[in-house]
Amino acid sequence: MRPENLFPLFKSVTSLKGVGARTAELIEKAAGPHIIDLLWHLPTDIIDRRYRPKIADAKPDTIATITLRVTKHYAPYNKRSPYKIVGMDDTGAMNLVFFRARPDYLNKVLPENETRVVSGKVEKFCDSLQMTHPDHIGTEDEIDAMSKVEPVYPLTAGLSLKVLGKAMASALAVPEPLPEWLDPALVKREKWPAWHDAVLAVHAPENAADLEPATPSRRRLAYDELLSNQLALALVRAHMKRSKGLPLVGDGSLRQKAIEALPFELTNAQKLAIDEIDADLAAEHRMLRLLQGDVGSGKTVVALMAMLSAVEAGAQAVLMAPTEILARQHHATLTQMAEAADLQPLLLTGRERGKNREALLEKLKTGAARLAVGTHALFQDDVEYKDLRVAVIDEQHRFGVHQRLTLAAKGRAVDVLVMTATPIPRTLMLTAYGDMDVSRLTEKPAGRQPVQTALISNERIDEVVAAVKRARGSGARVYWVCPLIEESETSDMAAAEARYDHLKSVFGERVGLVHGRLKGTEKDAVMAAFKDGGIDILVATTVIEVGVDVPEATVMVIEHAERFGLAQLHQLRGRIGRGADKSTCLLMHAGHIGETAKARLTTMRETDDGFVIAEKDLELRGAGELLGTRQSGLPEFRLADIAAQSDLLPIARDDAELVLRNDPELESERGRALRQLLYLFERDAAIRYLRSG
Ligand code: ADP
Ligand code: MG
Repeated sequence: MRPENLFPLFKSVTSLKGVGARTAELIEKAAGPHIIDLLWHLPTDIIDRRYRPKIADAKPDTIATITLRVTKHYAPYNKRSPYKIVGMDDTGAMNLVFFRARPDYLNKVLPENETRVVSGKVEKFCDSLQMTHPDHIGTEDEIDAMSKVEPVYPLTAGLSLKVLGKAMASALAVPEPLPEWLDPALVKREKWPAWHDAVLAVHAPENAADLEPATPSRRRLAYDELLSNQLALALVRAHMKRSKGLPLVGDGSLRQKAIEALPFELTNAQKLAIDEIDADLAAEHRMLRLLQGDVGSGKTVVALMAMLSAVEAGAQAVLMAPTEILARQHHATLTQMAEAADLQPLLLTGRERGKNREALLEKLKTGAARLAVGTHALFQDDVEYKDLRVAVIDEQHRFGVHQRLTLAAKGRAVDVLVMTATPIPRTLMLTAYGDMDVSRLTEKPAGRQPVQTALISNERIDEVVAAVKRARGSGARVYWVCPLIEESETSDMAAAEARYDHLKSVFGERVGLVHGRLKGTEKDAVMAAFKDGGIDILVATTVIEVGVDVPEATVMVIEHAERFGLAQLHQLRGRIGRGADKSTCLLMHAGHIGETAKARLTTMRETDDGFVIAEKDLELRGAGELLGTRQSGLPEFRLADIAAQSDLLPIARDDAELVLRNDPELESERGRALRQLLYLFERDAAIRYLRSG
């Protein structure tokens, strides 16, 4: 349960004065639904209203706060012309201009023959000075409040800075000081303010430098967030390690058969990873290991070996994939590989329903099924296992810690192996996984050829089509990827469909189309046709991004590649270059693209090393253009700027570890305060792992 003193922070923004349902909706879109979300919504700029010139001295195109005497109102002479109010001081006159004005309102706030203060942008219009729709209007008494530095916040369509600013001001009155959860020595060394002071300070920037990630208050809050992240991960991990594992040792008989039947030799990296996994399985504690390897590095066979150990020991193993397509593909691959060991993995996804599903569940419950592959359907509440011991999670950056745990809770002492193709830089790995054990597949299977990558502008589509034609003539299979255009799935679909029609008119019937809206069975049919060569050009939205394996595909065209993040481009390109033949990737892009987008595409052309790409990705985000953390598979932070504040991460990691070593149940005074921190950042799930949570 969330502590009571935090309740006010988690109230809806509608509880703030002047925030009605409509405004709340907009605020929710810009910041979030709760008061705390407003506190976490940091200013990105400032408006400096401290400039208080006389009218004659006011510089055009600057923000100024001006005291003037209202001399005369001029109502508009027709509907389209503005309402004008003339104001003067002892140096000159200026016009205040209002479109679609309400005269009664203007008469009230700017009555004739009274002195008022206005603040806004001064402009020069036909030789006279004017201010259109002043941002603020007040009396002379209010001048001090008006001539301040005003924070500027990210907004959303329909939400004005004025409205958000008011809500923010009320929100900032809500928090009370909280007990310090940070190590006093750290706070002292870094000269950080207390939490409450930091919150107030980040919302009251005095100058541009106060917006920098390096300011003490911003760093403090970033650290709070990173610490809560690390502490949550550490709690989960401690929980898993504490819950005793059962040593698992197979006799190697099934593995032997499976390995003998493979059409290739395992790489040294694969062998090493298998050894590391074996050591975990045999140990008393539970395995929580990350298997990290670039696309095509051969993670699946490593996973199978872990799963076969469970079966050899008389238990069960599952592999869970993030999407239906991937689950089916893994199922097909594992079925083939496990055949030599006389095993038939069962498949369970959202598509298996009714009687069929019941029969499958029965097999899992009785233990008749030893191996299972599926989506999250594998760990729904009514799914029971006889003796689940190994769970492999093909992450492809889509699951969270929570799902991993739900699955792990299904068995007596499930050993968990998480596979990821996201080549996360080391520092960031911490944020996503905490201190997990890691095995890396650093070498690619032998015989792989690097993919040749070229950049081509969209206008040259005819040349691209001609190139595809030539490649197809020599038997190549082609992916043609259409991008995310907007957040609207429909328009993506429309683009893919239009391209599909176009390519069909050039290439005839051997063109297929997959997108997210297709029914599962339709998708399968198209994918299967592409795999068997029934079609040889596959037009797709990014649904093919994850894990699809068609070694014969050697050409990939990506339209509007500039709209993709680096991680995503790398994932996509990983679909080709999987066989022994030379592969080509054509990145099509708009004529005018930004510096960052250009840098991304150039990076893609110059390297296919996932780690180099990941580092570059991080660097480019630092340059300000956010790639969208969802795409790159990293957790999203509200306050921490991972690129600029990465030095805080290892500190938070060590801090979290030390705290839990000394106070595993967070019961000391600092421990209690840290619980509040976890609640504050909505890491409630992690608290459940404390004995008295
Ligand atoms: P990942 O899941 O890491 O992207 P996969 O496990 O799907 O990679 O393997 C990609 C392809 O490489 C598959 O076709 C697989 O059969 C093949 N492969 C795996 N290991 C080897 C190896 N040691 N030598 C040759 N090919 C391999
Ligand atoms: Mg794979």
